[in-house]
Amino acid sequence: MSSTVLMATPSLLKEMEAAYQTCFTSSFPPYSLFSARSNGTVITAYKSGKVLFQGAHAESEAGRWKEKGAETSDKEKKASSASALPKGFDQWSVIGSDEVGNGSYFGPLTVVAAYVDQSQLALLKELGVKDSKNLSDKQIIAIAKDLVTFLPYSSLTVWPEKYNQIQPSMSQGKMKALLHNQVLLHAAKKISPQKPDAILIDQFAQEKTYFNYLTGEKEIMNQNVYFATKGESRHLAVAAASIIARYSFLKGLDECSQLAGIPLPSGAGAQSDVAAARVLKKGGLPLLGKVAKLHFANTEKAKKIAGYK
Ligand code: MG
Repeated sequence: MSSTVLMATPSLLKEMEAAYQTCFTSSFPPYSLFSARSNGTVITAYKSGKVLFQGAHAESEAGRWKEKGAETSDKEKKASSASALPKGFDQWSVIGSDEVGNGSYFGPLTVVAAYVDQSQLALLKELGVKDSKNLSDKQIIAIAKDLVTFLPYSSLTVWPEKYNQIQPSMSQGKMKALLHNQVLLHAAKKISPQKPDAILIDQFAQEKTYFNYLTGEKEIMNQNVYFATKGESRHLAVAAASIIARYSFLKGLDECSQLAGIPLPSGAGAQSDVAAARVLKKGGLPLLGKVAKLHFANTEKAKKIAGYK
């Protein structure tokens, strides 16, 4: 059984409490704020801000909240700093990779790798490339449109329909590892024979786990590979990849909205439940499966709202 620990701010704890309210367990452990069972995962939140996710989908369930700013716990941070970056790393020529959409109920999962040469660092800064969490969607779209005109990059999108086919037999972690590996290989081929100084993956799994996921792959990007949480603040290549991935996700979400015939929100909150219920009423599970990641707890909540059996 896998488990993940996150640290949440008081306001995020409140949001989590509201999100899981309908699936609280009958009693709560000592010192806990609440305990809930959702999506095959037991979620226990403590007053200290620590939130424990246990169960088969612990990682993807925690991922929803990471996108909203919850942080990995100190213990996991320490483990990941084992692959601390060399001094001056932010000035190197790097291929960075990041994914967007894994915590959003609606829309695709997009993974992007982008190469940023040392000589382009100043230009990227000038274009406003920084942590996409600090940028509005409008800013992200504008910057991404600039970036794709000159940065070597590779992008892969897994649409909900495909995602729902793969997901029951593959963890989200493995899916992400395979996608990161693919885009990194593509991006490296694009700039060949030039070689990057390093690869930086925005960390979503321990290094060992990441490479375990890739066992059996024909080609594995494993030279000079570094992992860092908050990779977008460690090198502009990850920040650029993240911006392009978000842009691509937003376009994908738009397409899903058109398919559904109603605007679909990003994220996985109560708004998503309501929108999903509307989609169910229009086209049932077949339509919902084309626009949403069905294994999220939102599906069951939407069925209840829509009275769908
Ligand atoms: Mg990331």
